[in-house]
Amino acid sequence: MKMKSEILKLLRETDGYVSGQQISGQFGVSRTAVWKVIRQLQEEGYQVEAVRNKGYHIVDSPDVMTKEELSSLINTRWAGRNILYYDVTDSTNLRIKQAGDEGAPHGTLAVADRQTAGRGRRGRTWESPAGSSIYMSILLRPKIAPNKASMLTLVMALSVAEGIRQCISQPGCPELQIKWPNDVIINGKKVVGILTEMSSQIDYINHVTVGVGINVNMIDFPEEIAQTATSLRIECGHTVKRAPLIAAVMERLEKNYETFLETEDLSGLLDRYSALLVNRDRDVQIIGAKETYRAHAIGINNTGELIVRRENGDIEKINAGEVSVRGVYGYV
Ligand code: ATP
Repeated sequence: MKMKSEILKLLRETDGYVSGQQISGQFGVSRTAVWKVIRQLQEEGYQVEAVRNKGYHIVDSPDVMTKEELSSLINTRWAGRNILYYDVTDSTNLRIKQAGDEGAPHGTLAVADRQTAGRGRRGRTWESPAGSSIYMSILLRPKIAPNKASMLTLVMALSVAEGIRQCISQPGCPELQIKWPNDVIINGKKVVGILTEMSSQIDYINHVTVGVGINVNMIDFPEEIAQTATSLRIECGHTVKRAPLIAAVMERLEKNYETFLETEDLSGLLDRYSALLVNRDRDVQIIGAKETYRAHAIGINNTGELIVRRENGDIEKINAGEVSVRGVYGYV
């Protein structure tokens, strides 16, 4: 298992050919054992060329998210180093919450190809078909006060937006924006949803689970969300490989999370988040548990609250956990 991902990594990081002898020497196994691993990779869809007297060269990799594929791509210290992969599971947030209760390390990442009970905020569902999207959740163990944990949703939103941008930098890919607090959108439609859940005592966080759903290559949406949902493939006009995208998000998250911890607020990330914020300086509808009202969104503050000016001129700070925000005439 480990050897396979190490060989994959070696093949990826080498421009030319890697000889069978070099691999067998490095891993202390026979040339036949190396050849068997290469065969397995080819069966999984990797195009590995084998040239006599030269060795092996990787031409292309399939859009798979196996544990080996992910760990050969993720170059971080802790974010996504420990991976739980599922072809199908109920919800990656549930898997991570359980792993957290059982003592799994900070940064443990659960990834699924399909979810049978994908969830959104306040009991809503997240559409999670197989083979085309990313459903992942990460376990965080921050030593901060529980009332600061909701900022992690914003840290993740920024990290996902930056990770996606890194992977779809070709010309023609439209701009990504963040709809406060937890959605990444393109052309006014949702491509990413984020769900943060916490297990805590009154003054102590046991662990936080941050779940992310990214519509990567999905092209069909159920009718209820057809007007508000989109995918990277639809917006960019080409398919996007999922595993490198997960790796890019993990790298951004690790950096952004550490910046967040330095001040325990968003001051080090505010400029970048605000630059992507679609609601900034816009008229919005605030949909709360008790009331729905119109207001003018000014921006966010260091603690991730949305600052709005109500029609009577009152300035209010809105906490991320409490409300949904809509445009006055549509979704944004
Ligand atoms: P809203 O999007 O209504 O402002 P929200 O950001 O809190 O609220 P979430 O709880 O993050 O919403 O996501 C759940 C909602 O997202 C569902 O109610 C549905 O409308 C929509 N949705 C479900 N699955 C998907 C998907 N795969 N892609 C885009 N949107 C989806």
